Amino acid sequence: MSLKNKVAVVTGGNSGIGKAIALELARQGANIVINYRSRPEDTADLERQINALGSQAVGVQADVSKLPELDRLIQTAVAKLGRIDIMVNNAGIESRTSLLDTTEQQYDSVLDINLKSAFFGTQLAARQMIQQGAGGRIINITSVHEDWPMPGNLPYCLSKGGMRMLTRTAGVELAPHNILVVGVGPGAIATPMNQATLQNPAQAAKLNAAIPLGRVAKPEEIATVVAFLAGDGASYITATTIFADGGIMQSSPGL
Ligand code: NAP
Repeated sequence: MSLKNKVAVVTGGNSGIGKAIALELARQGANIVINYRSRPEDTADLERQINALGSQAVGVQADVSKLPELDRLIQTAVAKLGRIDIMVNNAGIESRTSLLDTTEQQYDSVLDINLKSAFFGTQLAARQMIQQGAGGRIINITSVHEDWPMPGNLPYCLSKGGMRMLTRTAGVELAPHNILVVGVGPGAIATPMNQATLQNPAQAAKLNAAIPLGRVAKPEEIATVVAFLAGDGASYITATTIFADGGIMQSSPGL
């Protein structure tokens, strides 16, 4: 249990990839703050699953696109569990809109939820970690689209591209404090975000065929990467992104 007595905050932690991360970090011994926006009953259920693994779990409802709520999340984590060792900026949405049809509201909500929350989540967690004086890990869930254009999903690509540079620049700025900042870039993962595609047999077949490993991934296959990056074995990885995409970035330009 390499993360015994560590405290992790996972934003957007009650579904999809965030939920799998919360469970995997708990399996490694960490106590977990589950941030969520809706479905408190799912959070309560996840808290029970984490407790059954022998770890503590605290659910905190907060809209992480708003700085005062993000600040309250961090303060609650410290008040309830004493410290923060691992910050996972995972909350995210898509608008599936192109340059020509994106509204200001769509732009603001995708950029605020995906990028602004990761920027200030990194800032607030880093301030806490510096105060604690024992280093820390900040893991940003980006996407293959931090680097790979996706026509028809421009605000999302913009937000993930921003997270790419957040990860690199904050990683360099925080290195003297031994706070490591790493991105995890998933390819296509079976979560509520991809439900429409995966429930359409033709679209699902096209997607699977475009992936060298021949299938979308389970959220747990991202969570194990995050757990590795949070642990002792990843002590020399910072200011970069680890992709877990089944090879898709190397094989399917223009999917
Ligand atoms: P998901 O199941 O829809 O999870 C997204 C989570 O973010 C949900 O729990 C959602 O809460 C939460 N969230 C959204 N806005 C929020 C806000 N303002 N404050 C707090 N939480 C908020 O989708 P997912 O696939 O697991 O996505 C997790 C991350 O992985 C995202 O950053 C996404 O971009 C990234 N990713 C996913 C894939 C993929 O193929 N699935 C690929 C690459 C990257 P509500 O449900 O209550 O809105």
